[in-house]
Amino acid sequence: MRKTDEFDAKQKSRVRMNDFNAGRQSRYLMVVSLTLLPILSLVLITVFTFFHPIFEKMEFIADTIYEEIRPVRVLQKGLMVSMMAPNDYLLHGNMDEKKIWEQSKDEVNHYFKVLIENPAYADEKSRLLILKQEWVNCMLLGDQIFQVKVVGLISRHSAELMEAFDQCVENISSDLDSFAEYREESVSGAYKSIHELKTKTIIATLAAILLGMISGVVGSIWLARNRSKMIEFVTRDALTGAYNRRALDEALHRLNGDKSAFAALLLDLDNFKSVNDTHGHDAGDLILKSFVEETKKVLRTDDLFGRYGGEEFLILLYNTKLEHAVTLAERIRQSVESNAVFLPSSGAHHSLTVSIGCAASDGSKPSEETVRMADKAMYKAKQSGRNQVRVAES
Ligand code: GH3
Ligand code: MG
Ligand code: MG
Repeated sequence: MRKTDEFDAKQKSRVRMNDFNAGRQSRYLMVVSLTLLPILSLVLITVFTFFHPIFEKMEFIADTIYEEIRPVRVLQKGLMVSMMAPNDYLLHGNMDEKKIWEQSKDEVNHYFKVLIENPAYADEKSRLLILKQEWVNCMLLGDQIFQVKVVGLISRHSAELMEAFDQCVENISSDLDSFAEYREESVSGAYKSIHELKTKTIIATLAAILLGMISGVVGSIWLARNRSKMIEFVTRDALTGAYNRRALDEALHRLNGDKSAFAALLLDLDNFKSVNDTHGHDAGDLILKSFVEETKKVLRTDDLFGRYGGEEFLILLYNTKLEHAVTLAERIRQSVESNAVFLPSSGAHHSLTVSIGCAASDGSKPSEETVRMADKAMYKAKQSGRNQVRVAES
């Protein structure tokens, strides 16, 4: 890094860090908004895009199981239970089983009624009515069983009757399976798509968070760039690129707060009016720029160099004793004297000199007071013939 670049970088960081902290809170708010708003909005979009179908499918599953599959399974269970009483009667001859059989018949009839009247089975009503008719046949067989007199071993007739009855009931139950099975398939299809939607939701949410973070980072970089551009714009002198009066005043104000020791150099270009008068205003501008460039090379990176007004400049030397400030001022004076500026308008070099006033403070008095003392010292340098460094009398 060239010395001037290093000098600029150091000065920038000094100004950026210390002088313009007022908007810090609002900047944090903006960065947080830049990060969180996209995350929130994308997550909301994701939720609405995927959660709605997930809930719809879950509702479909619950309705199908509860409203459609369950009545079929209840009827099948009723049929299986109904088989037990006639069978037990034939085995043990207990007439109490007849009561249980009558009760079972009522229950199965009721379950059939419920299923036939179910709106979800409207299209399959005729098939159900056929099954109901078959059940009527089963009931007749069941009734016949209870007319058999049970004495000892089961007769051939009884065995045939029992087999016909059992077969009749089992046939109805297995036919009922077809009503439940295709509904169960659609339930498992919905269940699978819930899983797919769940995976998509997770991916989309993660993508939303990632995008939000990227937008936060990009936004922060953009804000930081804009901010440093803004600070440059507000604190720099447009012609020379040195700090302007605003930045210098801010630095002096801060010195008052810190109460730290510093030295001030007040520089005034000698007979500058005659430069303008002789070579024109543009040449004057060129010399001002050249003076700033050359002086930066002599300064240390910690020093703050600014244009105080017109052809006057102020240099603040942090934690610097007066004797060191005087040495530095002398080096600046010599550098200016030895660097004649080439003026393209006249095709010749113009020799420039500067008068410098030095003052130092231990931090106990207002910084502006030290600047005033440096100014008085500079005035003395002018009175003593210019192109010299003078120290303020304490
Ligand atoms: P002294 O040695 O006593 O300081 O004499 P001087 O001529 O430098 O002082 P004076 O205050 O009489 O004149 C300062 C001149 O600096 C007048 C003004 O036109 C010139 N000046 C101030 N700012 C600029 C600028 O930005 N560009 C140019 N070209 N000239 C400037
Ligand atoms: Mg002046
Ligand atoms: Mg002058």
